[in-house]
Amino acid sequence: MNPIPDLTQQVSPDRLRQVVQKLSSYNTRNTLSETLKEAAAWLAEEYRKIEGVEAELMEYTLPRGRRVPEDRKVLQVVATTKGTTDHWVGVGGHLDSLNLSVDAATGFAPGANDDASGVALALEMARAIAPLKLAHNGVYVGFTGEEQGLHGARALAKRFKSEARALDAFLNNDTVGSSSNKAGQKDDGRVRVFSDESTVENPNTGSRDLARFIEWITRDRVEKFGIKLVFRKDRFGRGGDHTPFHEEGYSAVRFIEVHEEYSRQHTPDDLIEHMDFNYLANVARMNLLAMASLMQAGPAPTDVRIVRDQGHDTTVTWKATPGTCYTVYWRETISPTWQDCTHVEETDKATIKLVNKDDHIFAVGAVGGIPVEAR
Ligand SMILES: [Zn+2]
Repeated sequence: MNPIPDLTQQVSPDRLRQVVQKLSSYNTRNTLSETLKEAAAWLAEEYRKIEGVEAELMEYTLPRGRRVPEDRKVLQVVATTKGTTDHWVGVGGHLDSLNLSVDAATGFAPGANDDASGVALALEMARAIAPLKLAHNGVYVGFTGEEQGLHGARALAKRFKSEARALDAFLNNDTVGSSSNKAGQKDDGRVRVFSDESTVENPNTGSRDLARFIEWITRDRVEKFGIKLVFRKDRFGRGGDHTPFHEEGYSAVRFIEVHEEYSRQHTPDDLIEHMDFNYLANVARMNLLAMASLMQAGPAPTDVRIVRDQGHDTTVTWKATPGTCYTVYWRETISPTWQDCTHVEETDKATIKLVNKDDHIFAVGAVGGIPVEAR
């Protein structure tokens, strides 16, 4: 199997703090504001300072509607690292901020945790990943138009779709920088990952499989830190930039802290002083482990099946790609997460001894890639 480099040392809480400090120093990053353009230009320049990273200010139309008085051309930041294949793996947060109690274009909206935290994290991913020269392309996004209805994410997801780009996974990070709330609840040992199973058009986007994979690949990799899976699209009545990707049929999930402080969101009190940068760094480490693994993974197997024999062992078969090694995973039908796995070399078949097919779900993935459930 391909070794996954230990990247967790590459993440710097201080650097994350500096980026959040800078972004929250703009009076507002509301998508309708002039200062958002300055923030976007600054962020693109930060990406361009990293060797091997290109950054684009992507223009799209913010349509008239909720919180938008008229159609408006706006910008968001899309940075990339080049691989040697035509596959992509993405990470992002939303650059725009919101303060509902003041004028949208000029009122104070620091948006430190929501969502300078996710923007800083994505930039940190590019810094860590660019020097590694991994197989697949990376895309690192500072979305805008999130607070008006996920418009920037929708524009990018549709662009990927129309260009038929093979986007294997998208990791959205929105409000990932605080470990406690005002009610006294604290959890600095986990980050939530929200995922949906299906859309009307697409019975399995792979988003849930991606979430389960993230939990598996990061398990016990960072001291005293792990993933809390939530099997829902997002929080009640709330949205995020992973959803437009999911709706286009891509595997996409949302990272978010365990204990949000709702009373600070979209207010002048979304300030850096309420954040925990060791926590944000650990969330970044989870993203980095997952992203680096996905960016090296071989092609996913197809036609993954359980052989219908009666016996105490379970045999799984699949269509393999030459030169690819695989991992076979299993879990009991009542377990939300993978419980065990075995690695196999370049083959299209594996027999798992004394694991009963009636009680377990099996899946096969290229080593380091998202497992495909056996049917
Ligand atoms: Zn947000």
